[in-house]
Amino acid sequence: MTIQMPRQTEQPHGRDVPTSSRYVYAFDEGDKDMKDLLGGKGANLAEMTRLRLPVPPGFTISTDACRAYLSTGEEPEGLEAEILVSLRALEERAGRRLGNRADPLLVSVRSGAKFSMPGMMETVLDIGLNDETVSGLSRRSGDAQFAWDSYRRLVQMFGKTVEGIPGERFEGVLHVAMRDAGVTAEADLPVDVLRRVVREFQQIVVETTGRPFPQDPRDQLFAAIRAVFASWNSERAIAYRHQEHIPADLGTAVNVMAMVYGNLGRSSGTGVAFTRDPATGQRGVYGDYLVDAQGEDVVSGDHNTIPLAELERLDKRSYDRLLGYMDRLEHHYRDLCDIEFTIERGKLWMLQTRVGKRTAAAAFVIACQLVDEGVIDLDEALLRVNGAQLSQLMFPSFAASDADELAATGVAASPGAAVGHIVLSSAAAQAATEPVILVRRETTPDDLPGMIVAQGVLTSHGGKTSHAAVVARGMGKPCVCGAEAILLDEDACTLTIGDLVLRAGDVISVDGTTGRVYRGEVPVRPSPIVEYFESGAVPQGDEVVAAVDRLTRHADRVRRLGVQANADTPDDAARARRFGAQGIGLCRTEHMFLGERRSLIERLVLASSDDARKIALGELLPLQRSDFVEILRAMDGFPVTIRLIDPPLHEFLPRLEELIERVARADATGRTDADTEHGRELLTAVERIHEQNPMLGLRGVRLGIAVPGLVAMQVRAVAEAAALLVREGLDPRPEIMVPLVATVRELEAVRPELERVLASVPDAPPIPLGTMIEVPRAALTADEIAKEASFFSFGTNDLTQMTWGLSRDDVEGSFFPRYFALGILDVSPFESIDATGVGSLVALAVAKGRATRPDLRVGVCGEHGGDPASIHFFEAAGLDYVSCSPYRVPIARLEAGRSAVTASVSDSR
Ligand code: PEP
Ligand code: MG
Repeated sequence: MTIQMPRQTEQPHGRDVPTSSRYVYAFDEGDKDMKDLLGGKGANLAEMTRLRLPVPPGFTISTDACRAYLSTGEEPEGLEAEILVSLRALEERAGRRLGNRADPLLVSVRSGAKFSMPGMMETVLDIGLNDETVSGLSRRSGDAQFAWDSYRRLVQMFGKTVEGIPGERFEGVLHVAMRDAGVTAEADLPVDVLRRVVREFQQIVVETTGRPFPQDPRDQLFAAIRAVFASWNSERAIAYRHQEHIPADLGTAVNVMAMVYGNLGRSSGTGVAFTRDPATGQRGVYGDYLVDAQGEDVVSGDHNTIPLAELERLDKRSYDRLLGYMDRLEHHYRDLCDIEFTIERGKLWMLQTRVGKRTAAAAFVIACQLVDEGVIDLDEALLRVNGAQLSQLMFPSFAASDADELAATGVAASPGAAVGHIVLSSAAAQAATEPVILVRRETTPDDLPGMIVAQGVLTSHGGKTSHAAVVARGMGKPCVCGAEAILLDEDACTLTIGDLVLRAGDVISVDGTTGRVYRGEVPVRPSPIVEYFESGAVPQGDEVVAAVDRLTRHADRVRRLGVQANADTPDDAARARRFGAQGIGLCRTEHMFLGERRSLIERLVLASSDDARKIALGELLPLQRSDFVEILRAMDGFPVTIRLIDPPLHEFLPRLEELIERVARADATGRTDADTEHGRELLTAVERIHEQNPMLGLRGVRLGIAVPGLVAMQVRAVAEAAALLVREGLDPRPEIMVPLVATVRELEAVRPELERVLASVPDAPPIPLGTMIEVPRAALTADEIAKEASFFSFGTNDLTQMTWGLSRDDVEGSFFPRYFALGILDVSPFESIDATGVGSLVALAVAKGRATRPDLRVGVCGEHGGDPASIHFFEAAGLDYVSCSPYRVPIARLEAGRSAVTASVSDSR
């Protein structure tokens, strides 16, 4: 049972011939940088082969082939022939042939996309077994039980994966066989039982598909390859891609590899290893090992593994080798690697490696460790972390006390605090209207939709490397695995833990950081990272906070983009400043018109004469002024961009339906008091200003032009507030921003009045006038608009809405889910900037604006200002700053730093 190692001296010739007509690459033809073509798994297998690590021979079918197959439904021309040539080469190296009766080669067929999508696509192992070769394998291995168990696995996996037969059909048969034989592991079934199980499995295949289980190994191989291609578009793969923002059109590569056997008795086994702890970043030996088991058993979570460190006792030679290889891989990749390996009768084989997924905390800690170890510099460390990870660290965690009822303990698989009602299926999680915790015996890829909507995940089986624990970590979702004290009864909808019985619907709290599960709702405490940003102090010995501090400070040193905040209250302004904002990029003044001030707006709308309107405005003025005083004080010395009123006035009045009902009720009862009269007046006014498309109606600058005195009052309030602070000896820096401008003439129309007011306020500092660019026409005519504006701020919420013709308030909950499912959208353009469409308008407006006014300051204040991917776009588009909500300020600082490093790396290429 030994495989000949690939001849490593051959010249790799594949790397320079990736022509589109070539689809298949042997492992010794690629390298780690060919992920686009070979997928992550294929590229890293090639790299390990180049490093002369013991990788079984094999080849990778490229993503090009998958894309071609998915677009036509057929294998592209020439693929079959290429596969057969590569198979022949594989057979040469392995020293045995597929389908050979005496000594059959078996192969695995595994998916492997550019970005890791753990368990979301298909794998078929043990291809090559049939009614005849199983005897050959049995003789060659001297282990009939192993051979028949392998055949059993093949028919089961093939039936499920390739033929789409529900897995329970097979599991049911297996369950009964194990019960009757009195064994707990499939591999312990006696040979005659395994033979019977295989026959029954074959029967299931015939009954369900009308075709026998294919006996020709090549038919098995090609069918498995097609199934892997097709699994790119499985429901769970689509859901995962959407969650992780992976483009829908990449396709997967397919890796065909000679099988090595971890299930050849006690001297064999299979495992997963990490070069550092993926949960905390600590150095050490981390991983799981399973004796006498094959491939998927470790990651599937339904077998209980032993810690990797125990392998030292079982097989010291393989253990030492493995540690040596891990060390080499970590040095080679200069990062944490995760590894899948198999030991076949004492011989170690490396089946996979990649730069490993890790928790957010581990990402920061490891990046700084690697700097201290001299492996990378701080710039590179910054690229090893990201804003999404920082945002995860800013969530609260549990403040459990002795009073909280600890229900169970499991493996801390993915950190964070989650509270919710128990649901026992993915479907129930999806149907729930309240926050839920998804509780499963073991987490499987089919649970993905439920995992996405759940607050947290709890399983009674499986370890840190169980496949859905990996997925939960990738999503930043709290997860506790392997809480073995929990007995799940899905039929009765209960979890029993000792004497405690919990039911679906009961509330539990899951602490993915400690692995503890509590009955009921445990109070949460703020994140230490948020406390650090609030206070600026790094607690002694807190490695995670220290790493965040180090890397955000480095980001501040290297970034070009300024970071400001969207803040409308003094508290938000103060917090934003503590979090590192260098000013306010958007203060939405209409938020100051809500609450008890609504009546003043009502009076303004109802005013029937100039005098009445002036009185209403006069009452608003001191209120606005005092708001601005405190915001400007909180941001003293930094710019505060105050936007004039934007939404249509009806938003500040009672709803039309409400008024109609109120008046109708009064009419019916014949009431004629002052309140009824006021209701009538309001109804008339609301009917007068009612619009079919208010977002395209009387709002923004249009409102300023239509309602005399309104924006003049606001500007006066700003100038008087600033003057007051100047007199106090402070340094207020307000700026006035005009919203929703579509033509320069609108700015020309409002500007003289605003300038007149500003000039009339003694002691006011100079206050620049600028505009938002949020109507496509404004972007297209930015050269004209820049004549009247000293700065631009892109309102990418409205700009996206109007460029796409999509209602920003409605689409996410209506047809977008369908668009994601069909791959029409990978991510909502309201979440991450649509670089090709809306982004072109941004780039054009920057160029045109600066052509007119070279010193034009340009920023963005739409939601995209705090979105990591969008920040990189704004860096490239040459914006001066981004503005986002206070809690996103640290994220924007980090991403602005990362984008500057990325830009300098690509400049120097
Ligand atoms: C925008 O449109 O991007 C913007 C910041 O303004 P608002 O969201 O208030 O319309
Ligand atoms: Mg807007």
